[in-house]
Amino acid sequence: MNTEVTAQTTTDWVDTFNESMMRTMGQPLALLTHGRGAFVWDENEKEYLDFLAGIAVNSLGHAHPVVIEAVTRQISTLAHVSNYFSTKPQLELAERLKRITGAGAEGRVYFCNSGAEANEAAFKLARLNSSATRTKIVSLKNSFHGRTMGALALTGKSEMQAPFLPMPAGVMHIDSTVEALESTINDTVAALFLEPIKGEAGVIDLPEGYLARARELTEEHGVLLILDEIQTGVGRTGRWFGYQHAGISPDAVTLAKGMAGGIPIGALVTFGRASELFQRGMHGSTFGGNPLATATANAVLDEIETAGLVGNAERKGHLLSERIAALNSPLIDEIRGKGLLIGLGLTEPIALKLAAAALDAGLIINAANESSIRMAPPLIIRDLEVDVFITRFSAALTAVGYPPNPLVVE
Ligand SMILES: *Cc1c(COP(=O)(O)O)cnc(C)c1O
Repeated sequence: MNTEVTAQTTTDWVDTFNESMMRTMGQPLALLTHGRGAFVWDENEKEYLDFLAGIAVNSLGHAHPVVIEAVTRQISTLAHVSNYFSTKPQLELAERLKRITGAGAEGRVYFCNSGAEANEAAFKLARLNSSATRTKIVSLKNSFHGRTMGALALTGKSEMQAPFLPMPAGVMHIDSTVEALESTINDTVAALFLEPIKGEAGVIDLPEGYLARARELTEEHGVLLILDEIQTGVGRTGRWFGYQHAGISPDAVTLAKGMAGGIPIGALVTFGRASELFQRGMHGSTFGGNPLATATANAVLDEIETAGLVGNAERKGHLLSERIAALNSPLIDEIRGKGLLIGLGLTEPIALKLAAAALDAGLIINAANESSIRMAPPLIIRDLEVDVFITRFSAALTAVGYPPNPLVVE
C-alpha cells in the first residue's frame, strides 16, 4: 500500500494538465512517478514495462546506478561553467564521440541540448557548404528532424509546417527511392539529410543499398551527407550508429536522445573537410557541453561499451522479432527496423487502440501512426523483459480482437 499517492487523484492531475500546460501535446497516458530498469510505475502504483524508454532516450533504463552515480558526482563538483571555459568531461566526450563515430582525428564535435538543436547546427553547416549555384538542401518525404524552424524545414511533413510558414528557404523533400536520389543529387545541392531508419514515421527502413548510393553520389558532387542519428544512434540498432550497418561514413552526424540516459544533450559530429566549415563566433549554446550532461554521457557510453549493450541490442532485437513473428497474429503485417528500434506494420489502422490496450495490460508501446507501432526499449533488456513483453503484448492483441495464433506453423 502506497501512502504517498493519496493527495492527487487521477482527475486532479488531468485537470491541472489541461488548465496549465501549453496545448502542444495530446492528453498524457498516465502520471508516472518512478522507474527501475525497464519498468515504470504510475501514481496508482500500476506497473508498466517501458518499451518506449522516453522515445529511445533511457538507454540504460530507469534509475540506473551508473547514471545516478555520474549525475551525483558531477553535480556535487561542477555542473555548469559557460563556453568561456572547458572541462574534462566535455573533452573526454568529444574524443569518445570521434572514436565511436569513426570521425577520428579529423573529426570535430559541437555540443547542444537536444536533437532539434543538433539539426539546427547541421542546417547551418549545410549553409556553409552553399554558394551562389549550390543552394539546395535535400531531405526525405515523411522524415522527422525536430520542431524548431530549421529542423522543421528539414522535416518532410507539410502538415507540421503549415501553421508556421514561411520555412527557412531552400529545402526540398524527395521520395525515399534510389531513383529520386539519383535524379536530385547534383552540384546545386549543398547537403543531403537522412535518417538511417525513419523512426517517427513508424520505423521505416531505407531501401537496400540506399545509404551506399547516397554516399557515392554526395561524394561525387561535393554534397554534405548529414545523417540524423538522433533516434538510431548510440547502440540502438545493434551498431553504435545506423550508418555502420552500411559500412559508410557521413560528413556529419547529429546525436541526442539516448546519449546521456535521460539528461538533455545533443551533438553535431563532423568528419573530414566538414570539420573546417564552422569558424569562431558562428554558433553556440549556453548549456551545450556542460560538465553535468557530458559527464553523464561519458558514463552512459562507457556502460554501453563495457556491458556489451550494442551487441545486446542486436541479439534482443532478433529475439523480439522472432517471438513477435511466432505470435502469428493476423494484425501484424510486417516487422521493421534493426536492433531495438522496432516497427510493426499493422493490417488494420488500429495502432492507437492496440497501444491503449497494451497500456491497460501494463506495456508501453507507441502508435507512431494509425497503422504502425514503434518500440524502442532500453538497451539493457534481458530475456525476462522479452518474456513479460510477449505476455502483455499478447493480452493487448487479444483485447483488440486479433489474438496470437501460435499453433499455426508457417
Ligand atoms: C527526436 C528526434 C529529433 C528531435 O529531437 P528533440 O530532442 O526532440 O529536439 C530529430 N530527429 C530525429 C530522427 C528524432 O528522432
